[in-house]
Amino acid sequence: MRNFADVAVIGAGPYGLSLAAYLRRQGVDIRVFGSPMETWRDAMPVGMKLKSEGFASNIADPDGAFSLSTFCKEANIPYADTNLPVTLSAFLAYGNAFQKRFVAELEQKMVVLVEPAPHGFNLHLENGEIAAARRTVIASGIRAFAYSPSELVGLPREVFSHSADFGDAAHLADREVAVIGAGASAMDVAVLLRSRGAQVTVISRLSVIRFQSPLGERTLYEKIRAPMTGLGPGWKSVLCVRGPLLFHAMPKSFRVDVVRRYLGPAPAWYARDKVEGHIPYILQSNVVEAQTTGQGVRLTLRHSVGSIRQMPVDHVVAATGYRVDTKKLSFLGDRIQARLGRVDGAPTLSRNFESTVPGLYFVGTSAANSFGPMLRFVYGTAFASRRVANHIAPVARGHSSTSRTTAVKTLGIAAKFR
Ligand SMILES: Cc1cc2nc3c(=O)[nH]c(=O)nc-3n(C[C@H](O)[C@H](O)[C@H](O)COP(=O)(O)OP(=O)(O)OC[C@H]3O[C@@H](n4cnc5c(N)ncnc54)[C@H](O)[C@@H]3O)c2cc1C
Repeated sequence: MRNFADVAVIGAGPYGLSLAAYLRRQGVDIRVFGSPMETWRDAMPVGMKLKSEGFASNIADPDGAFSLSTFCKEANIPYADTNLPVTLSAFLAYGNAFQKRFVAELEQKMVVLVEPAPHGFNLHLENGEIAAARRTVIASGIRAFAYSPSELVGLPREVFSHSADFGDAAHLADREVAVIGAGASAMDVAVLLRSRGAQVTVISRLSVIRFQSPLGERTLYEKIRAPMTGLGPGWKSVLCVRGPLLFHAMPKSFRVDVVRRYLGPAPAWYARDKVEGHIPYILQSNVVEAQTTGQGVRLTLRHSVGSIRQMPVDHVVAATGYRVDTKKLSFLGDRIQARLGRVDGAPTLSRNFESTVPGLYFVGTSAANSFGPMLRFVYGTAFASRRVANHIAPVARGHSSTSRTTAVKTLGIAAKFR
């Protein structure tokens, strides 16, 4: 196996795969690492449907030739641009087909350490191999950033999970389970658990669960008042999809605030029928303490008016979302962590997605504080991939064999000292 590449891409989800397709198209020598569509395969509740509409769920390729619609037509899967929720299984199959078509050379190995090197970076792989690259793009997704309230952190895994660790929930059949949260993940998990025979209660600090409204047929007035975008209808969303570079130019505090507030918790409209009247809620309540008992956990809940109640359950699920914090990326070595500038936990990025460590780039959710909420969704793959590939490709193509020789020599020396 060759051990030097111009660009290493860490991640084989929508962002890593899309970028790899763009870089390859531009003749850049790449190596791509990761497990294809891992988050969608392992970290989403089975039976879930996407919140993004069909037309907004394309993994971008450089010719726009392999949209979700094209795939569904080829695979004979029902598809509509809007108003027909995309199933998790269809999207997963699409991602896997995209990988086979555009990134067949994907190496299904995890990167355990990235370190700076004279030629750029050395990537230590889980099998002990060291891969050298001049540039590295991190597209490792959201799983490392799963956030749980401090009251729940530290509970044993048998009685506590995050919605990111979910899978098919078979082990929770017939159990009493509390799901903390009021967003799409919380409802998807609750519905799945109920279908497995668990007795589920949803607990949220909000006073109401705000389900999205279905788009339906929109009048001309509605279309003008709230134009449709890949992030949903509304003028704010128009700004987000049209102006990621404008967003980048805004003050840090503005950017952080927008990303935090944009699209608060809102379960999809099609979950409503399966939740309302079937799954009880406890609203306006925070978990203030969680103690393990012989059988499970005793939650102490404080209502917003101040009353306290105890709630014993077998298992508690935090469907409390994700918070980007690059310190949680354990594969970034100390020398990189020390040089990495941050904005509210996310990397500081240039207009070309390059971090304060030259040659190290971030795409996907980690880039949302720089380019706006679009980067949290598959819809952002077109902007990110085009921008990063156009920045990297000209330099990489003109790149002489000198750096390859340097890299090979460095690796040779490193091997002698190991
Ligand atoms: C429940 C839920 C529902 C969602 N629904 C939608 C939706 O409807 N529409 C939408 O647009 N977005 C949705 N999202 C957001 C979605 O996660 C992102 O849009 C998308 O997955 C981002 O793609 P990504 O490539 O950045 O990361 P991911 O899809 O998370 O992929 C990460 C990749 O990195 C790899 N990786 C991680 N660490 C390493 C390592 N050390 N070495 C090598 N590889 C590594 C993994 O193997 C994987 O291949 C949802 C998220 C959740 C949690």
